[in-house]
Amino acid sequence: MAEQQLMETATVDRQALDEVVTFTSELIRIDTTNRGGGDCQERPAAEYAAAKLAEAGLNPTILERTPGRGNVVARIEGTDPTAEALLVHGHLDVVPAEAADWSVHPFSGEVRDGVVWGRGAVDMKNMDAMILATVRQWARVGFRPRRDIVIAFTADEEASAEDGSGFLADRHADLFEGCTEGISESGAFTFHDGRGGQLYPIAAGERGTGWLKLTARGRAGHGSKVNRANAVSRLASAVARIGDHEWPLRLTPTVRAALAEMATVYGIEADVDAADFDADALLTALGPAADLVAPTVRNSSNPTMLSAGYKINVIPGEATAHIDGRYLPGTEDEFKATLDALTGPDVDWEYHHREVALQAPVDSPTFARMRAAVEEFAPEGHVVPYCMSGGTDAKQFSRLGITGYGFAPLKLPEGFDYQALFHGVDERVPVEALHFGVRVLDRFLRTA
Ligand SMILES: [Zn+2]
Repeated sequence: MAEQQLMETATVDRQALDEVVTFTSELIRIDTTNRGGGDCQERPAAEYAAAKLAEAGLNPTILERTPGRGNVVARIEGTDPTAEALLVHGHLDVVPAEAADWSVHPFSGEVRDGVVWGRGAVDMKNMDAMILATVRQWARVGFRPRRDIVIAFTADEEASAEDGSGFLADRHADLFEGCTEGISESGAFTFHDGRGGQLYPIAAGERGTGWLKLTARGRAGHGSKVNRANAVSRLASAVARIGDHEWPLRLTPTVRAALAEMATVYGIEADVDAADFDADALLTALGPAADLVAPTVRNSSNPTMLSAGYKINVIPGEATAHIDGRYLPGTEDEFKATLDALTGPDVDWEYHHREVALQAPVDSPTFARMRAAVEEFAPEGHVVPYCMSGGTDAKQFSRLGITGYGFAPLKLPEGFDYQALFHGVDERVPVEALHFGVRVLDRFLRTA
C-alpha cells in the first residue's frame, strides 16, 4: 500500500487532484443542455476547455459546423513518431435536467460533503475534467507520452452528433491522422455486484442503432363499413408482433469474453465456447452481476411511437409507428430479415436513423494496459469487458478506422448507481471518484 501511494504521488500531484474537481464543477456550471433539433450551445464550454489546454502549451482548435456548436481538437506529440496515435474524447453537451426534481440546482456544480453535483457529473464532464487535469500536469512536469495523443471535446453527442463527432469525422479527418484506437465514455466504473464484490467493466463494443419507421397502407373509408384493408389494424398487428418478438441469443466475442471472465470471478463452472453452453443458466447464476451483460446478449425492438387517424368514424389510408431497435455487432442482416418477416406484406419499414454496431478486441495490448491501470488503483476490483447496449461518439470515429473503448475510470462507493445517475435526477460524483479517475487515466495514458 505504501509503495502504491508513493507511485501515486509520483505521478499525480495535488494540483491535478484539485483541478479535476474544479473543472468538473465549472464545466457543469456552463449549461450545455442539448434539447435536440439543434437547440444547444457548446461554444462556451469549448472555449473553456481550449483555454485550459492552451495554458498547458497545447495548440487547440475550435471547430464548428454550426455557429455556437463548438468542438475542440488538440494533439500532443508523442516521443515515438512511428507509434500509432490514440484518440481521447469526451462530449461537452448534456441531456436536459428539470431543476424542480433535483436536490440541488442541476447547473450549480455545487461541491457538498465531498460530492460534486450537477448535470454532466458522470455523463461526461467528469471525464472532460480528468483529461484536462491529466495533460496539464504533464505540461508541468514536462512529460511526453510515447504515442501521439489527440484530444477531442465534442458537441452534439446527446442528439445526432451531426454538429460534433460526425462533423469532425467527415470534415476534419486530417486532425485524427494516425489514430487507430480511442477511449471515451463509459467504462471502468465500479459496478457493485450485490455480494460484496466490485467489477470494473471496460466497454469493448456497442450495439448498433436501428430506429425504424413503419408505414401501413390500406383502403381509406367510412368507419361503419367492413374493411379488410384497415391500415390501423395492419399497423397494430405488426407493432404487437415486433414488441412481443423474442430475439434469439447471439453471443458476440466481447459478450462471450465478459461471461467467461465473470464465471471465473465468481467460481462458476462454465465453458462459454462449448456447443451446449447455456448462457441463460450462467446469467441466472451470476445474480445481479448479470445486469452488465443481459442487455447485450440479444437484439431488441421496442415500439415507442404510434400515429394514425384523425376522426373516429373515418378509417385512414395510412398509419405509422416508430420502433427503437438495437442490434449486436454482426447481426444487422438478421435484424433486417427478422423485421421484414415481422412487419409482413402490408407494412413497410425503413430506417429512421441507423448507426453501426461496434466491436473492439479484448485481447489487445491497449485493453491489457487499461486493465492494469484500473487494477493498480483498485486491486480489490475485477476488470471485465462488456458491450454497451446503446451508442456513443465512438460510432462516428469508427468511420476513421478508430477502434473505440469505453474507459472513463470512476471508483464509486456502494449506493452510487452509475447507470441510474446517467441522465438521471441528482446526477453527482464523489470527489474521491474523480481523484481515482485522474490517477487511473494518467497511468493508462502514460503507458499507452
Ligand atoms: Zn455521454
